[in-house]
Amino acid sequence: MGNDTGVEQTLVLLKPDAVARGVVGRILTRFEDAMLKIVASKMVWMDAELMRRHYFDLEDRFGPAVYKAMAVFMQSGPVLALVLEGVDAVACTRKLVGPTYPDQAPPGTIRGDFAHMSQAYANARGIAVANLVHASGNTDEAKHEIAVWFAADEIVEYPSAAERFER
Ligand code: ADP
Repeated sequence: MGNDTGVEQTLVLLKPDAVARGVVGRILTRFEDAMLKIVASKMVWMDAELMRRHYFDLEDRFGPAVYKAMAVFMQSGPVLALVLEGVDAVACTRKLVGPTYPDQAPPGTIRGDFAHMSQAYANARGIAVANLVHASGNTDEAKHEIAVWFAADEIVEYPSAAERFER
């Protein structure tokens, strides 16, 4: 989208913990309830190359141990990749998802309601913080990540009921 209406697209991944726990439907309901529109979706088992492309700066930000733990976690099962569309969709989706570490994520957010792991616990065990969802951090990241995960013809245009009510 990317026009002056403020309508944006953002990339969401339901991570392997969300898929394995069978909470995909309940998480998707959160986005649908907020009238965010699903315009693309697919299930993917990540490989090392896609891991590098998606989390290209994670090793620089957190170091090799966290990157390795995340690579193990993200390749431990399939993810459900989605593109969501809506007004200020990037920020709105992050608001619904909540802060990175579930112990700090408030009730009402997906990470706060479906997990409680802390950064300290994950680091002490050398495991990834399993926090159910990835959502693009800003609009530039969203554009880049959507292109990493989806071809242009995999993003579908259709009228949603929400659009009848101007979202
Ligand atoms: P976010 O997903 O909220 O944008 P980051 O981009 O900072 O967060 O981190 C990417 C992902 O890496 C997090 O969602 C989490 O799964 C994992 N992660 C972040 N910090 C750690 C850590 N210290 N130890 C293990 N995993 C981490």
